[in-house]
Amino acid sequence: MWRSDISQNVSKLSIDSNRLCAIRLNLNGHCLIIVCLYLPTDTHGNAFNQQSIEMILGEIRTLKLTYPYDDFIVAGDFNVDLDRKTPMVEFVNNSMTNVLSLDSLWKYYSVDFTFESMITENTRSTIDHFYVPQSFVLTCTDAGVLHHTHNTSDHSVIYVKFKCMVHNRSMNNVNMKSRPAWYKASYQNKTDYCNELSRRLDSIEVPVNTTTCTNSMCNVHDEHIDRYCLTF
Ligand SMILES: [Zn+2]
Repeated sequence: MWRSDISQNVSKLSIDSNRLCAIRLNLNGHCLIIVCLYLPTDTHGNAFNQQSIEMILGEIRTLKLTYPYDDFIVAGDFNVDLDRKTPMVEFVNNSMTNVLSLDSLWKYYSVDFTFESMITENTRSTIDHFYVPQSFVLTCTDAGVLHHTHNTSDHSVIYVKFKCMVHNRSMNNVNMKSRPAWYKASYQNKTDYCNELSRRLDSIEVPVNTTTCTNSMCNVHDEHIDRYCLTF
């Protein structure tokens, strides 16, 4: 999720949870920790999954205590809309603010909504957040949400822009892999590519009985398919 030429500045942090991932970005001595999380859904009642949430927030607290950093961002689907006063919203927001000392950026940059349910009509909510320290708010230049028709997710993209000094980016020890530069390709290059692709696709011999069988519950061709896969 980052340019390969800054890979030497990025380290993945180990976390014991399948609802969290985190990286530490070293920008010339300025360290930024970015945590991505996904909290359980809000049941709107007292029976929300407090234990699971406590474990996730505990992991974030451990990260804050374990690794040195200058800035700390927690981003993701919190399933928490601060306009709703449910027990889970109160619990998560209190923990983020009072225990982890992080604030939702939407307190400073207002957004209309970040999630629109595809199941229930007219249900829009702001459940995706950036939780950041007070000091980080001062370095922010913009934050918001992008609603795009191309986006097939029921969540909209949220973004944050902030000032940071990055200079003398070293290009040493970088594995540069070549890849097609389509914008430089001529009409002839593209035609040649299409012809070569068609030729290669045509040369693939798919087992006949796997394409002619119409039984959706059929499992008698597994051996054919396995043998076919092994030819690649
Ligand atoms: Zn069959």
